[in-house]
Amino acid sequence: MPPSVAFLGLGAIGRPMAMRVAAAGLPLAVWNRTSSRARDFAAVTKARHASTPADAARDADVVITCLPTSPDVVSLLDGDHGLLRGMRRGTTLVDCTSGDPSTAQRIAGRLAEQGIDYIDAPVSGGVGGAEKGALTIMVGGDAAVLERVRPVLETFGQKIVHCGGVGTGSALKAVNNALLAVHIWSAGEGLALLAKAGVSARVALDVINASSGRSNSSMNLFPERVLTRAFPRTFRLALLDKDIGIAADVAREERIPAPLLQFTASLFRVAHGALGEEADHVETVKLIEQWAGVEIR
Ligand code: NDP
Repeated sequence: MPPSVAFLGLGAIGRPMAMRVAAAGLPLAVWNRTSSRARDFAAVTKARHASTPADAARDADVVITCLPTSPDVVSLLDGDHGLLRGMRRGTTLVDCTSGDPSTAQRIAGRLAEQGIDYIDAPVSGGVGGAEKGALTIMVGGDAAVLERVRPVLETFGQKIVHCGGVGTGSALKAVNNALLAVHIWSAGEGLALLAKAGVSARVALDVINASSGRSNSSMNLFPERVLTRAFPRTFRLALLDKDIGIAADVAREERIPAPLLQFTASLFRVAHGALGEEADHVETVKLIEQWAGVEIR
């Protein structure tokens, strides 16, 4: 029997991930806070539209959550309609939220009291990667539990890596995204000053991308999203702000001096405040442009 799955959180990345689960033919129930999104999803797939988290989980071997933050996941656990009412002993919660390690550990502890396994399994690769089933998945938790749910993860993930105990997937994801934030900000500053100095962004990127300063930001994000002025909304700045904040918190908890991460976290907090909840992460460049009085094109 193929494992049955419940998917909770059909947002920008959750929806295409759940689509991959549905396309693989696994029995699937979907729940979303705004229920019309789950209803629309069920209308175009064979998935069952669940009315509550408990209802989604009732037949599921594997429950997947993909929400903005770990506290959002905690908020679904309790009460008559909560996940803990629906999940059975021996089943697994796979949390694909880019969460924080300490809350992940607390969730794992609560589930263990009821005989339910937990892994944190944040993803990378963006909406395009999710649509293609090509996400990287960083897993924290028991390796044997990962092996049990691997066939489900393989419906949307390509590179699936066991990182260590519960919380390690979240820690690694936070650091990865902290690097993304550093790269976006530093490339933005560099291209802004070059524009002022008379070097066009196209020429600058042509050289940088054949040199040692290149990054995913310079190779993909700036050419596709900034120079075109397209700025598609695929990953909210609010979520990147959250991620670098998690990395900065972990550094503080571990008593590691990490001045660059702490400073970049402050910059992204400012950008988030200035650009709002719906802005895409790459729109941060608009703030850098505003400060420099120049447009990167
Ligand atoms: P979105 O903001 O697009 O969607 C968030 C989803 O969570 C929606 O389904 C929303 O429901 C639901 N939600 C929000 N708050 C709550 C809550 N308190 N209780 C229940 N449901 C809630 O986020 P993404 O899909 O972009 O991101 C989801 C996670 O994946 C985040 O942790 C993000 O950092 C991570 N991620 C995102 C990537 C991307 O490219 N977008 C890439 C890699 C990781 P509703 O429809 O009601 O608003």
